[in-house]
Amino acid sequence: MANKEIPYKIYLEESEMPKAWYNLRADMINKPAPLLNAQTRKPMTAEDLAPVFCDELITQELDDTTPYFPIPEEILNFYKMYRPAPLVRAYCLEEKLQTPAKIYYKFEGNNTSGSHKLNSAIAQAYYAKKQGLTGVTTETGAGQWGTALSMACAYLGLDCKVYMVKVSYEQKPFRREVMRTYGASVTPSPSMDTEVGRKILAEHPGTTGSLGCAISEAVEMATKLPGYRYVLGSVLNQVMLHQTVIGLEAKAAMDKYGVKPDIIIGCAGGGSNLGGLIAPFMGEKIKGEADYRIIAVEPETCPSFTRGKYAYDYCDTGMVCPLAKMYTLGSGFIPAGTHAGGLRYHGMNPTLSQLYDDKLMEAVSVPQTEVFKAAEEFARVEGILPAPESSHAIKVAIDEALKCKETGEEKTILFGLTGTGYFDMYAYEKFHDGKMTDYIPTDEELQKGFSYLPKMD
Ligand SMILES: *Cc1c(COP(=O)(O)O)cnc(C)c1O
Repeated sequence: MANKEIPYKIYLEESEMPKAWYNLRADMINKPAPLLNAQTRKPMTAEDLAPVFCDELITQELDDTTPYFPIPEEILNFYKMYRPAPLVRAYCLEEKLQTPAKIYYKFEGNNTSGSHKLNSAIAQAYYAKKQGLTGVTTETGAGQWGTALSMACAYLGLDCKVYMVKVSYEQKPFRREVMRTYGASVTPSPSMDTEVGRKILAEHPGTTGSLGCAISEAVEMATKLPGYRYVLGSVLNQVMLHQTVIGLEAKAAMDKYGVKPDIIIGCAGGGSNLGGLIAPFMGEKIKGEADYRIIAVEPETCPSFTRGKYAYDYCDTGMVCPLAKMYTLGSGFIPAGTHAGGLRYHGMNPTLSQLYDDKLMEAVSVPQTEVFKAAEEFARVEGILPAPESSHAIKVAIDEALKCKETGEEKTILFGLTGTGYFDMYAYEKFHDGKMTDYIPTDEELQKGFSYLPKMD
């Protein structure tokens, strides 16, 4: 049925790999709102951010005019260990669905950490090392970011302290051991190590933690320990910047074969993989050079885009981070247990939030049992065992392909397959045993989350 002149897998040559990250903000007409100092409500300056973040990363965070940041040689060399990532033509899935749609996915799971997060982890660790720091602190939810960061730190000889959301720490002991193999220290959060951890434990004894809380603990440790800074695996604009290698490679691979996507789909937790995948395409769209339909997919349990508010909010439960204007459910919103741990963050990257508010992209939310159905269907025909987070994108790609089947349209669909799900077998087990449930937060629950939003005047 399909024309197989396009190979199953398109790999770029090493020499064709992107040499610079693309800063989409430079081409945006409406720039994302600046980070604000939570006390003064004034835009954060580099000096304000310096106690928490690495200098070079602050420069990247605050820059919305420089279109390209050259990728340092050392980072390029690290990328070459696991990149370029393949762009796969999903011939087998197309066949299974009997769709005229042409489906492509960019697979980011071909490294030990199993996700795209390594793309930013190595960049952040590199700049910390270059600044002469001893180590970095961070939080991890599902564990992918902590794993990626521990790999990057091991490579560069930096110390790495990870605060892992307690429920994941207990549910995913193997993730924890991978991090320790790479030399990181892993502490379940909330912990007694920090003031914010002790406060949260006193207020909510027995809590299994949240990403926002783990962030607060990691930030506190970074500011207390000399020679340490805090690094973050998603949400911030610098992270999205590093993740543009995904989109730049995907676009170069498609251009090589004269293929242009009609629809681009990605799962959205904090927004970094989606932002990175769409960046070069969105740049063309903003400049009027091409048009693409772009869809963010989020879980129904944590619907930041589809049911959130576009407002200034704290990035963390402890309210120690700057305020960011983003689509948010409120920093105190604790989503119901879902197995896509990487999509549980209450807010969304500020750049994507602005693009969504400008109606340059769409968003949908999906129930988790549907996501796992799609994951299984995908695994059986394409072979890759997808992460639950990534499977959100698979679900919507399949839905769009099935729409094409009805209408007979031969649309080209590109989606981001962010990682593998080997550490998520507990979730797959629940699905297979018919014990997985769906949960849609009520308006009252969301209202409670919004009540945590800072009053802006
Ligand atoms: C962390 C993670 C995500 C979500 O994070 P984004 O910043 O939204 O990209 C998606 N997929 C996988 C596999 C992850 O590890």
